[in-house]
Amino acid sequence: MMTPPGALLRSLPILIASRDSATVGGAVATNAGGLRVLRFGPMRAQLRGIEAVLADGTVVSHLAGLVKDNTGYDYPSLLAGSEGTLAVVTGARLRLVPRPRDTVTVLAGVGGLDELHALARRAVREVPGLVSAEFFTRTGLDILVAHAGLAPPLAVPAAAYLLLEASGPGAFGDLADLIGDREAAVGESAADRARLWSYRERHPEAAGFLGVPVKLDVSVPAAQWVRLASSAAAVVADVDPGAEVITFGHVADGNVHVNIVPAAAADGRHEDAVFRFVASLGGSISAEHGIGALKAPWLPLARTEAERALFARIRSALDPAGTLNPNVLPWSRKPQFSIFSASCAPAAMPVGGLPRTTPISVRPFRAASNSRQCRAESVYPVLIPMAPEYEPISPSVLSHQYWWCPCPFGRW
Ligand SMILES: Cc1cc2nc3c(=O)[nH]c(=O)nc-3n(C[C@H](O)[C@H](O)[C@H](O)COP(=O)(O)OP(=O)(O)OC[C@H]3O[C@@H](n4cnc5c(N)ncnc54)[C@H](O)[C@@H]3O)c2cc1C
Repeated sequence: MMTPPGALLRSLPILIASRDSATVGGAVATNAGGLRVLRFGPMRAQLRGIEAVLADGTVVSHLAGLVKDNTGYDYPSLLAGSEGTLAVVTGARLRLVPRPRDTVTVLAGVGGLDELHALARRAVREVPGLVSAEFFTRTGLDILVAHAGLAPPLAVPAAAYLLLEASGPGAFGDLADLIGDREAAVGESAADRARLWSYRERHPEAAGFLGVPVKLDVSVPAAQWVRLASSAAAVVADVDPGAEVITFGHVADGNVHVNIVPAAAADGRHEDAVFRFVASLGGSISAEHGIGALKAPWLPLARTEAERALFARIRSALDPAGTLNPNVLPWSRKPQFSIFSASCAPAAMPVGGLPRTTPISVRPFRAASNSRQCRAESVYPVLIPMAPEYEPISPSVLSHQYWWCPCPFGRW
């Protein structure tokens, strides 16, 4: 299927929560994943060709969609996940898959994350039509029941919940055999399935009912999944004992969303604790949502110096002037900026010797809430490029020190 970049992401193999606003170009640039990665892979796996405009205006296009085509570098794949740093995607050829039939959704309660993971792994092996394997815990569910008006899905509350969806003629029987006599709700009609999915799909909202969340999206190898999912709250408690931690996500592909409502200052300590833990398990600090500017200080936990230097060289080759998204991902000319992300009095401004009178221009970017609107009392991360005549902040300060700054602007 050929699609222009602004086309919305409905009716494709990938299914993401932002499907009603995300564009094909954005999903390619972020290599979006979502709820069916287990079966169909992320956006990169859907690409059969691409058209893009390079920073110098050159149009590159390779849209024949051939299955076999070994005629050089696979740049469509390179652009997937490039976060807008290498080119602007202006067209894409995407694979289509047969529309799923006889789809069944099951939401089962289980005693703990060990059992949940083992059951999901069995589903991958024993349910040929499996499309999704998602999880959430009682912590998030209780918040949604209390604040979002959802009724508990099962008569008996469980410690954790596994949502499985499968399609095809044998799907119902395969899922029934797998679930056995566990407490479960089953949906076959579109309405019933949507109701069961709402428990999982509304989880990104749960933390927002308690405060302003720090949203992390990490992944680990299958053998470490239980450790990550069951220890994330304790890891956060070490740096902020009063924080609320809600975990949910895509159990079969190792991906856990860790949403934290801090009690202590949101000064990077939560990210630092979780990312270091994930790195120690051989995982990724960004499973689906990219590095952007917010996670840039932690990229060295996930990528070696040699890899980061390679990123910069690739980038220089395609965009030597650094025109495209200059503050995202490594670049050969070090951008002179610092990361600012919460509240402080202007008196606390000097960091690394930065004079208070430094002329700054504020470059807002999308916060975790995805809002472009600056609400009163809200705090948003902003990038503040430094004027070239001032000393750049040293890389060690850049990666370890955060400058918290109230949003003084009505709107961006
Ligand atoms: C509420 C919400 C839920 C989400 N849930 C998921 C999820 O479940 N799974 C998942 O994987 N992701 C998820 N995401 C992230 C998702 O991948 C992106 O929001 C979406 O794919 C980006 O599409 P967009 O058109 O909104 O791009 P934008 O948000 O506008 O841009 C995203 C990035 O892509 C770049 N970009 C945009 N368009 C182009 C283009 N044409 N060419 C080159 N670069 C471009 C931008 O510069 C930016 O770096 C979610 C996001 C939100 C807001």
